[in-house]
Amino acid sequence: MNIYADKIDALLPQTQCQRCGYPDCREYAEAIAAGATGINRCPPGGQETLEALATLTGRPASRVDPALGGFTPGRVAFIVETLCIGCTKCIQACPVDAIVGAPKRMHTVIEALCTGCELCIPPCPVDCIPMRPAHGTTVGVTLPTDPRRRADFFRSRYHRRGTRLAQDKAERQARLRQQELPGSGAREIIAQRRAEIAAAVVRVQAKRAQRARESKKHES
Ligand code: SF4
Ligand code: SF4
Ligand code: SF4
Repeated sequence: MNIYADKIDALLPQTQCQRCGYPDCREYAEAIAAGATGINRCPPGGQETLEALATLTGRPASRVDPALGGFTPGRVAFIVETLCIGCTKCIQACPVDAIVGAPKRMHTVIEALCTGCELCIPPCPVDCIPMRPAHGTTVGVTLPTDPRRRADFFRSRYHRRGTRLAQDKAERQARLRQQELPGSGAREIIAQRRAEIAAAVVRVQAKRAQRARESKKHES
């Protein structure tokens, strides 16, 4: 545990947008702690975060690198549901699980949980995710109003998602290993299904042959 990186991470907004050039806020914090990057690479944090980082690190506060683009607070993603084809790519991209939906079903953004990171936009194959000002809809989600506690809330959602994805992966791998084990029963089940399908094909072919014979008999 790097305590210096913890302190830096605690100042970052936890938007998890990757604009700093790192996969998440934590990795950016670690890079700052290691002296490997500047403190001016967080557009969502803006000047306020930059100055807090300058105070903590003792480095000069210049301005947020304009090459990284601006960030408009208070904007959230919105899915045009009539265009959504239910491919789930946006769900896979969302770092804080702010999108709900199922394969081949309409998806929707839970506005209160959206950090505005925009990571769901590029993967959408039908380009149906614009950004728009938040309407303040909370649908049962109570978010802290204090910015630091809000950042803590999103950090914890991001971590929870990481844990869930790791568990899903481990379970998938365990299932695959299980299927490959002799005596697991999985091979036998697959063989049985194949045999049932083959038997069904034979039955259909026999019926067809029977019908063909009967129709020949009627003709003669
Ligand atoms: S919020 Fe800032 S530190 Fe976090 S990923 Fe985005 S740019 Fe990087
Ligand atoms: S819905 Fe889109 S913009 Fe909102 S947090 Fe998820 S990925 Fe980011
Ligand atoms: S990526 Fe686009 S089309 Fe696919 S589920 Fe999300 S909103 Fe719908």
